[in-house]
Amino acid sequence: MSYVQFGSVLTVILFFGMVGCDFETHNPDAKDDHQLQAESADSTSTEKTVEVETDTFGIEIDDIEVQEERVRPGDTFTRILERQGLSRSHAHNLSREIQPEFNVRRIVSGRNVRFYHNADSTGDLQHIIYQHNRLHYTHVDLSSDSLMVSNNNRDTETRLRYADGQIQGSLYQTLRARNHSTELAYEIAQVFAWQLDFHRIRQGDEFRIIYEEHLLEGEPIGIGNIKVAHINHINENFFAFRYEEEGNEYYYDEAGNSLRKSYKRAPLRYSRISSHFTDNRYHPVLGRNMPHHGIDYAAPTGTPVYAVGDGTINQAHYERNNGNFVRIRHNSQHESGYLHLNRIAEGIQPGVEVEQGDLIGYVGSTGLATGPHLCYRFWENGQPIDPLDVDADPVEPLAEEYLDNYESHIFSMMHLMQQLPEKEVDEQQAVLGSLLDVDDSMDVMEEAGLGGF
Ligand SMILES: [Zn+2]
Repeated sequence: MSYVQFGSVLTVILFFGMVGCDFETHNPDAKDDHQLQAESADSTSTEKTVEVETDTFGIEIDDIEVQEERVRPGDTFTRILERQGLSRSHAHNLSREIQPEFNVRRIVSGRNVRFYHNADSTGDLQHIIYQHNRLHYTHVDLSSDSLMVSNNNRDTETRLRYADGQIQGSLYQTLRARNHSTELAYEIAQVFAWQLDFHRIRQGDEFRIIYEEHLLEGEPIGIGNIKVAHINHINENFFAFRYEEEGNEYYYDEAGNSLRKSYKRAPLRYSRISSHFTDNRYHPVLGRNMPHHGIDYAAPTGTPVYAVGDGTINQAHYERNNGNFVRIRHNSQHESGYLHLNRIAEGIQPGVEVEQGDLIGYVGSTGLATGPHLCYRFWENGQPIDPLDVDADPVEPLAEEYLDNYESHIFSMMHLMQQLPEKEVDEQQAVLGSLLDVDDSMDVMEEAGLGGF
């Protein structure tokens, strides 16, 4: 489907939209938000009875008195327990009992510890929460006969946000100026790695993105997945729709083609790995330990070597250490390298475009090598990474049977992208709040009389 066709589709959707589209819905998380705020306001004081039923750690606090302490310099866990009214021997035993699950010797000065005492005359200690950081905490449960210690993460919320704009300076700067996480710039570069080189993104290019943002106590702590992205780069349109099919989520373009291209698992056919990627190995020729940022494949001289993915040759020549070697730029992030070749294949020179599986050379032992092998390397943003970590799953377009559903999905997303720029941030959030679950998007569209495309 071309962009021109998309334009007419959007006109139709917009027309329907004016007829009876009501995206105003209540944010189901609003109540939780309120509770969290009430709770966090209390947590700064040292001693407080909180009146909501459970607190932010999921602990019931009816008839419970919560006391909060900070670990002091030189504190031991036993000493903190004693300050909470436990006898020395009781505090000692408790510290020892929880040690296997929670290393109390590792407590850090300044961290929060919460104590939950019965509000009655006994004042019995029921729970302890030690906060490792904002997200992670240890829960010591003393409320039943058997002691229970668990390490948990606090519940975070996820909301969708809309970002748009025209690039001023870099995408990074533009996002920051508009109060969006700059992590988004990296995520977008990932999504469009095969389509766009973000180093070349220009002043005046435009973007529209719907993405997930994670919140803890109402404050952003990071971003999740990009749901939809539209980039206009030198008047060319690029779309990415995240879509789930049989439990796998990938990005597809407006026609259902995967945005990712595949890599072959290995650049040669019959071989075995003789040396893995490591930061430190004994180098047989140099006689000392040094990093080996590649994989060695043992193979006879003359074994054909193939490009692991589509790309452009950026180096193909002889070097003293690497011997005859070829380097391919695959996309804006990835490059692969092939060292010690006996010979570089005919026609392989800088600037030449290759396809996955094209012959680029033959295994040899040129340069610093003890015997015939292929040293295969991979770089992400210029940094060497283990080639075995590279995603080599096959890439297929969406299966025919999912295309109808997919089209409905992208219609609703495109419709949203048309609507959101017109709205205030509050309204945007209300609309997006009802779309958190992608499956819901169709329900919302149905309700709005927009279903059944
Ligand atoms: Zn090697």
